[in-house]
Amino acid sequence: MPTQSLVFLGAPASGKGTQGRRLAEFGGFSYLSTGGLLRTALREGTALGKEARPFLDRGEYVPDEVMLPMVIEWLGALKGAAILDGFPRTLAQAEALDTAYLEMGHPLPHSVFLDVPDEELRRRVTGRLECVSCHWVTSRGAFEVCSKCGGKMAPRADDEVVRFENRLNEFERLTFPLVRFYEERGRLTLIEALGSPEDIHTELRLKILL
Ligand SMILES: [Zn+2]
Repeated sequence: MPTQSLVFLGAPASGKGTQGRRLAEFGGFSYLSTGGLLRTALREGTALGKEARPFLDRGEYVPDEVMLPMVIEWLGALKGAAILDGFPRTLAQAEALDTAYLEMGHPLPHSVFLDVPDEELRRRVTGRLECVSCHWVTSRGAFEVCSKCGGKMAPRADDEVVRFENRLNEFERLTFPLVRFYEERGRLTLIEALGSPEDIHTELRLKILL
């Protein structure tokens, strides 16, 4: 039974949900997805769900005063270590999380950053890129430049892409500073998460569980 909890950090579409769940199952961690908690709250129409809905509808993160009490309550009821996906998302949340662990007398959490370049994230989300000049569309591939006219390739501007870009901006602004926060405290492992899900899982096991 692991004793130190893990915070999974990664941009949207970095694969942290899939990898976090899989490592939790393999290593005997409890697993917290704040996305899952929020979806349940929305479905059941709880007070939290009502507060959170406008932020989620805009593709924004739910603010600390809504998220913090819910997560702290979940952690307090927990036996053993957990993998946290989607929390903390801000420096304030990371500090509050450390405080909560100290108060519970548990080891402070370690963090794992799944590092994926933005263009790869966009390719995963959109699955296709469109030339801004001639509107030629290509499926998944590593094209930065249009092979027809040499124009710039960009994700198609549909609703899904707009929501993704909002979440990516929020990640870079609010969550990316956490990478430095944990690094400065000697509690960060960086994983270059570009390989197959199988390879990334293996690397996580080697770097985190041994
Ligand atoms: Zn073109």
